[in-house]
Amino acid sequence: MWITLALGLLTLLCGVLLAVGHGAQSALPLVILLLGIAVSGSGVAGLFCVPLLGKRIDADRDVAMRTDAMTGILNRLGFYFKGCELLTANPKTRYMSIDLDVDRFTNLNILYGYDHGDELLCAIGSTLQEACEADECCGRIEGDRFTLLLKRSTKENDRARIDALVSRVRTIVKHPLRICVGVYEIENNKEAIEYATDCAAAARLSIKRDSSSSVAFYDYTLHQQDFTSNELVSRMEEALHDHEFCAYYQPIFDIRNGSRVCAAEALVRWIDRDGRFMPPDEFIHLFERNGFIMQLDYYVLEEVCRMQNDIIKLGLEPVPIAVNFSRAHLYEDDLIAKISALLNKYCIAHWMIDIELTESMLNSDQERMLKTVSALSAAGFSVSMDDFGSGASSLSMLKTIQLDKVKLDRAFLAQCDTDARGRTVVRSVLRMTQQLKLLTIAEGVETQEQLDFLHEAGCDMAQGYLLARPMPADRFRDMIDDMQTKRLRVKTPRAPRPVRNSAPTDEE
Ligand code: C2E
Ligand code: CA
Ligand code: CA
Repeated sequence: MWITLALGLLTLLCGVLLAVGHGAQSALPLVILLLGIAVSGSGVAGLFCVPLLGKRIDADRDVAMRTDAMTGILNRLGFYFKGCELLTANPKTRYMSIDLDVDRFTNLNILYGYDHGDELLCAIGSTLQEACEADECCGRIEGDRFTLLLKRSTKENDRARIDALVSRVRTIVKHPLRICVGVYEIENNKEAIEYATDCAAAARLSIKRDSSSSVAFYDYTLHQQDFTSNELVSRMEEALHDHEFCAYYQPIFDIRNGSRVCAAEALVRWIDRDGRFMPPDEFIHLFERNGFIMQLDYYVLEEVCRMQNDIIKLGLEPVPIAVNFSRAHLYEDDLIAKISALLNKYCIAHWMIDIELTESMLNSDQERMLKTVSALSAAGFSVSMDDFGSGASSLSMLKTIQLDKVKLDRAFLAQCDTDARGRTVVRSVLRMTQQLKLLTIAEGVETQEQLDFLHEAGCDMAQGYLLARPMPADRFRDMIDDMQTKRLRVKTPRAPRPVRNSAPTDEE
């Protein structure tokens, strides 16, 4: 543009000089003069137009940078810009930040193809856009995760509006997938939009594992929980090294004739360096997510082997002890070799260890589960199906899978208390397991009525607070010792008297 202007002016100067030299005898100076005017004119025009054009290009580039190419709505950056603009321009308007995601959306992509998945995401994007008023906005953060900044009204109205939004999205998705929504009510419009979006996401994540609700409002304890989780994860390796994890043992009673301890389940606890006692529900899910559960399960197995070895050295008869194995082990090629190596190290026979696999593993990979169970069984291990009746499994599945024991989920038993139909279901499950020659253990037995019912319905074993709580290794050893030296036998199934000793059980 500057070069054009300079060339134009040079040409203009030549034209003038030639005109002065040649006068009117030649047309050449006039042509050069006109050429100079044209070229310098375009230079001058460029001088004014290029900035305008530049602005236009910049604006187009901004729009492209802030728009989600697939859905046409704002992307993360665009949403942050627009959201910040709205919060600043409307300081008196009360807003809420919403985080919405379609749970297990990848399943749709895998089942019906990515084109179908993309179409659905576009339709969700337009629906959310249509739901926004002039001073509201929405965007796609990533994948199947969307975000909105909506005005607040009363809590009831907000809830109704969100519910309506969820049901519209559900209509688009059609497949029975869960729509999870987190809501953060912005207290002060000076708060960063990024912070508001993170809080809404934290609220959504808080219900990811809880299938009973699909909308959650943020409260500040959620970040506290996140903080605690990070702290636990950052300390896990050190804690394992320092033996802060320990196996507790919950006795399992044979209720067919007399209530004798015939087995036990090892349940991990974390007692940290400050003496804080943590039950597994506080950390197992974190370790399942980051893979540390594999190490922890082997650690618990080794503790169990060591304890069984102590029992043998004391001249007592060991009972089989069940160890929980998380789903991550299904994909371990050397699972059996690793378990066997630990058993050999402590001279423990295979029958002394039961492997508990949870029923929910069938959801993730049925074929893999069948293979793992057959391989364990072929290697001489007894395999129990944990939490039976809590979800995926069916009675027909029991026929195909090579199990030894089935553990009836606590919830299964709880329904017997109030519901005659529940009792019928438990009876028919017990009949079926008997036909298949599977042993049945009822978990979570809390009342004498439940124990009587189970005994009468033909259940083999029982485990629950009524009979004994999980206890530390030394207390469990003493219990076995007492039982075998005093030959404790009770005729009818009855809760044994609680064992008193120094170390705390779960109840203390
Ligand atoms: P689970 O395998 O179903 O273990 C039974 C849970 O029920 C235990 O909870 C036990 O303390 C509890 N329980 C026993 N009797 C009763 C009762 O009468 N009433 C009630 N309300 N509860 C009863 P705990 O020890 O908190 O373990 C929770 C879960 O953590 C376990 O459920 C298991 O899934 C997991 N877990 C525990 N230890 C390990 C481990 O070493 N590895 C793995 N992968 N998971 C573990
Ligand atoms: Ca278990
Ligand atoms: Ca269980």
